[in-house]
Amino acid sequence: MKLFNTHTHTNNSVDCKALPIDMCKSAINAGLSGIAFCDHCHGGNYITHRTYSVLKGSMQDAKLMASQFEGSLEVLAGAEFDEILWSPEYINRLIESSPLDIVLASVHRVRTNLDPNYISRVNFSAYTNTQLREHAKSYFEDVLETAEKCDFDVLSHLTLILRYVRGSHKLDLDLAEFMPIIDKTLKVLISREKALELNSSEFENIGFMPDAEILKRYRSFGGELVTIGTVAHKPKRIDYGICEAVQLLKDCGFDSYYYYKNRQPQKISFE
Ligand SMILES: [Zn+2]
Ligand SMILES: [Zn+2]
Repeated sequence: MKLFNTHTHTNNSVDCKALPIDMCKSAINAGLSGIAFCDHCHGGNYITHRTYSVLKGSMQDAKLMASQFEGSLEVLAGAEFDEILWSPEYINRLIESSPLDIVLASVHRVRTNLDPNYISRVNFSAYTNTQLREHAKSYFEDVLETAEKCDFDVLSHLTLILRYVRGSHKLDLDLAEFMPIIDKTLKVLISREKALELNSSEFENIGFMPDAEILKRYRSFGGELVTIGTVAHKPKRIDYGICEAVQLLKDCGFDSYYYYKNRQPQKISFE
């Protein structure tokens, strides 16, 4: 069975030092069939973040690597657009004018008066429980609105806020009160024929994002399109949790997963 990692980064992303060629070599060594470079293209403060040049640099590298490794590794041109809701016209123009294989949509910053900074930097430990739940509610609302309104192929790391609340700050956050909005998001993805990413980057820490319960709900609503992404920022993380993610999908009743090429879903059936 083909193993595809549709969420990796390269040194085009400001938080990644890995050379594209090293990511490719590591992918081949790990036995992967393909990877997608999905560098950070920020919708918030896109000029300061050099969103345009990150996108162009990443696409150029993907093209170069695709030809260099032709026959041994499929290298796809992708992008991870976050905070699309902050600059929808600009981001949509970028997406429309770029021949991408896969477009990820994600939320790293929340439109909230509490703290609109990256959720990786929010001091959740200083919050009251009410504030924590309020911030989480705003996060899931932004994710839902992104799913409803934006142009993308795959919704990335649906439950990312848990990485910081549970992982970094060791705080408890029960998702039960957010399940109606999560269910709505899953149903929107299904009706718009967008994929859900199964993100393995924290599977040994806080678990998969999203977890088995949410995957099973998505499946029960008729969801089929799932991609697998490790969020590798380092060559050694290129296949981190992919086999475990495949097993989890099987356990949750899926018979396949997907990658994207020319923005079209490509099915990989489980054997
Ligand atoms: Zn992300
Ligand atoms: Zn990412």
